[in-house]
Amino acid sequence: MTTEIFDCIIIGAGPAGLSAGLYAARGNLKTLILEKGIVGGQLQATKDIENYPGMDHMTGPQISDAMEAQTKRFGCQIITDLPVKKIDLNSQPKKIWAGDKEFLAQTVIIASGSEHRKLGVPGEEEFSGKGVSYCAVCDGAFFKGRELVVIGGGSSAVEEGNFLTSYASKVTLIHRRDELRAERILQDRFKKNPKTEIIWDTVVEKINGDMLGVTSVTTKNLKTGKIEELNCQGVFIYVGLDPNTQFLAGNEIKLDGAGKIITSEKMESNIPGVFAAGDIRNTPLKQAVTAASDGSLAATLAIGFVESLHDSALTAKA
Ligand code: NAP
Repeated sequence: MTTEIFDCIIIGAGPAGLSAGLYAARGNLKTLILEKGIVGGQLQATKDIENYPGMDHMTGPQISDAMEAQTKRFGCQIITDLPVKKIDLNSQPKKIWAGDKEFLAQTVIIASGSEHRKLGVPGEEEFSGKGVSYCAVCDGAFFKGRELVVIGGGSSAVEEGNFLTSYASKVTLIHRRDELRAERILQDRFKKNPKTEIIWDTVVEKINGDMLGVTSVTTKNLKTGKIEELNCQGVFIYVGLDPNTQFLAGNEIKLDGAGKIITSEKMESNIPGVFAAGDIRNTPLKQAVTAASDGSLAATLAIGFVESLHDSALTAKA
């Protein structure tokens, strides 16, 4: 039995992976995207995208659907619900194990993105899906007329907190410092919203509830040490993102201190023929547009790498 060899396998079907798939397939590479869940990555959990140039306003799923259709139209294959378990980047072709299948690829583009980080406090796991959520778009509608807490001070917390006011009677954002790190336009929008409040210099130490779900959070003011209980029926946690790199174990691919893949400005990792794109790499800006840009560049370099393999094979034959 022979295993088919792809010119390019892309891990992850978010904006970085879909863009890489589009460019690689248009560049005539036999291309496959392996996705552990559904196509779209974090786009699927984003209600409004208003900073993708040329698209005044679209929902995340709308952009994802459009990117998927375009990528497939140029011949890129996509397999969903198939998590990559292990990868061997030292061999040529490189080997990828996903589900009970083995795949071979001349080049690999890692675009596996990141996941919302857990807060790590008592009650978080117990009430996950019963009031604790990491996705406002998925779960916001369950909280019509309820009081909600959002934890975090980045763009995710502030943007999703704003979105939640379309359902909740009140959204209280709890942040550990006295300054938000979110994009200024999002901060201004949140602060102007009559349904919002911000509690500064405070952390959530515990999420409390009963058989029906979340009832309150226990907070601690880091400046005064005061412990308080704040009633709420839902807690949305946005305390940062962790890269999806577990399947890279055993490979000598260089990661930074946060576990993100270190790339050159051309998206090359330290391993020849292996590229990274989007949130998985050490990029200073995590946006759909920068992910798409990374993907296009990674695919362009992958095309060059495959051509160089063909050239070497011809020279060896001659
Ligand atoms: P982020 O920018 O890393 O922010 C995480 C926030 O959580 C920070 O405010 C941090 O506090 C806080 N935090 C971290 N650990 C905590 C803990 N243990 N307890 C309490 N608070 C904690 O993450 P993000 O908001 O998910 O954004 C990720 C990336 O996506 C960013 O690059 C962001 O710009 C981008 N993004 C952009 C948009 C947009 O442009 N519309 C929307 C969403 C996300 P400190 O500030 O004190 O560190």
